[in-house]
This record gives sequence, C-alpha cells and structure tokens, in this order.
Amino acid sequence: MAKRDYYEILGVGKDANEGDIKKAYRQMALKYHPDKNPGDKAAEDKFKEAAEAYEVLSDVEKRRRYDQFGHQGVGGAAGGGAHGMNMEDIFSQFGDIFGGSPFESFFGGGGSGGGRRYVNKGSNLRIKVKLTLSEIANGVEKKIKVNKKVSCGSCSGSGALNGSSFSKCGTCGGSGQVRRVTNTILGQMQTASTCPSCQGEGQTITNKCKSCNGFGTMPGEEVISINIPPGVGEGMQVSVSGKGNAAERGGVPGDLLIVIEEQEDELLKRDGNNLLYDLYVSIPDAALGTSVEVPTVDGRAKIKIDPGTQAGKVLRLKGKGLPQLNSNFKGDLLININVWTPQSLSSEEKKIMERFRDSDNFKPSPGKGDKSFFEKMREYFS
Ligand SMILES: [Zn+2]
Ligand SMILES: [Zn+2]
Repeated sequence: MAKRDYYEILGVGKDANEGDIKKAYRQMALKYHPDKNPGDKAAEDKFKEAAEAYEVLSDVEKRRRYDQFGHQGVGGAAGGGAHGMNMEDIFSQFGDIFGGSPFESFFGGGGSGGGRRYVNKGSNLRIKVKLTLSEIANGVEKKIKVNKKVSCGSCSGSGALNGSSFSKCGTCGGSGQVRRVTNTILGQMQTASTCPSCQGEGQTITNKCKSCNGFGTMPGEEVISINIPPGVGEGMQVSVSGKGNAAERGGVPGDLLIVIEEQEDELLKRDGNNLLYDLYVSIPDAALGTSVEVPTVDGRAKIKIDPGTQAGKVLRLKGKGLPQLNSNFKGDLLININVWTPQSLSSEEKKIMERFRDSDNFKPSPGKGDKSFFEKMREYFS
C-alpha cells in the first residue's frame, strides 16, 4: 500500500516551519479525533495518518531523513517506526501541541503534565439560620458555633510528623494521575485517573502526624460570625468563603453555606417586600374615627382611622415594609381594616342597635366614600 506524502497529509508545503506544521496538525487532530468521530473508521485512519506525519515532520532529524530518502528513510527505524504508532503514542504527542487548551477535556484532565498538581479542597458545609422579620429588615450579625473538620494543630495541617518530609509519589511519578490505554470497540482510548497511591497529590508523606493520622484535619468546632445583609428571604443562601471543612494536608478549605429560614411572625405576614397586617376596629371607632397602634418591624406605629372608615379599606405605610436585597428600595406595610361586629349584645345594646337600624345613615350605600373590592384588588396587584 502506497503511503501518502507527509506534507500532503498535513496540507503544508515542503518549506513549512515548525509552527506551520504544529498548527496544521492541531487542526487535523481536532477534526479527526476519535472522541469527536465515534465509530468512524475513516476518521480514525486520517487521525493516525496525521499523527504519523507529524511525528516525522516535527522531528528535525527524522524530517531531514524523510526529505532525503522518503518513507524509506524513516520507515525502518525504531522497530517499524511510524507504522507501529499506536494511540498511546499519538496521545503522548498532545502534551506538546495542546498545552493548556480546552482540548484536554477529551482526556479527562491534565494532558500536559506541566506541574499542575491536584489541590485538596475541603467540602462545603451547609447550615440553616432562622431569622425574625426584624433581623431580615435590618440585617444581622450572627455568631454561630459550627462543628466541622479543622486543621490539625500538631502538624499545622500538613499531615506530616514534625520534621518529616514529603517524597515524590512512586506510582505516578509526581503527576498525580495515572494513564491507561484500553481497547474499546471504537479503538484505543486513553483515560486518565487520579493516582490511587497519593490521591492525586503527587507526593506522599514519609512519617504521618500521630494526631491526625496523616490527614491534616480533625473534628472540631469554630465560632463563626456571619453578616447577613438586610432583605434576605426564605431559602436564600449566603456563602462565607473558606469557612467550610478544612482540606486534607493543607489544601483549600471549603465554604460555609448559610441557608436562610424565615421565622413566622405572629402579626405581620410577608408578601415579597411588603408586609401585611390585619387590623380590627370596633363599629364605633370605624364610625367616629380614632387613632390606633399597629406593629411594624421596628416597634409600633400610630395610625389614624378616619370617621366613616369602611371595612376592607387598606392603609399603606410607605417604606415600612422590607428592604430589597442589595438595594435602597423598601416595601410598604399594608394595613387591612376589618370592622369588628359584636357577636353577643346586652338587651340595652340591642335596643340601641335597633334604633340605628332605622336610621338612614346606617343603610349601606356602596360606591360612596370608598373604592370597591374589585378596584382595590386591581390596584393592589398592579
Ligand atoms: Zn496532624
Ligand atoms: Zn501518585
């Protein structure tokens, strides 16, 4: 079977420089990569062909022999030469040409082996914090005792016995990863996985710390103060970076995630940024007018009830609701007025009421003096 010309395969001229060749091969490799063309034998052949061409043309000495003697010049060397190139060889080229590109994701991480070692990360901790409406309205600083993994004091979290040193992991040679080439129906595939001996750290401890058995962490607790901003709500999460579980052997600690729970208020109901309050006034107060106190998130406020106030009237205290998170906006306190109808009457009260019944002033005349329920609802929801 006649072999194609290596320059032709990569689509470059005889005078192409190292950069041109690399660039051309990178494009071919991306195009015909088996992960992108699963089950496509033609693509796999092109992929291998390009790899073979690159293997020769990227090497100054091999390229010189190829230029002089053609395929004969490079075919016989090193036990079958380019012909015997398998997937592992091809993938091992990628460290040179793909460096830190996104292409690495094809291999499940770290193709370049450029000294990037796995860093331990502590796990995140999630705790619930219950807040009153007043705390939500004003923001609050909470001091919370958290049970968590803390850094070991004896070894300062390193996991190594005092004076002990670290040595390069023998299994992975310090890269933290082990690579394996497996045969699948789609051809050979390379997988990279975390080194089982060093858990990806690339080094092992000669003598483990006795207190923490080499982990660098131990169970403990910490009192953490958390600033919760005004305007949070049920289910919201506030994260405190680096206050989660300590990482093993001096890595980066996890985060502390505070999940907000709203403590139900007996009097005030929350509706977004607004607060709702049901006020009951007596029939005389509604008829004669009065002034009453209503609860707010900051103590009580006095409001005026006008003479002739109807049940169902809604009073609005502007800005007495809850703040919007990260904003200056504040909701309102909406006071829904109910008129309390007595449920039992003395015989004297009955007589008075009967007199009221006969008065024209006590006969309902809707539409006079107050908006209808429909209008109020439309206003409220707009
Ligand atoms: Zn220790
Ligand atoms: Zn290792």
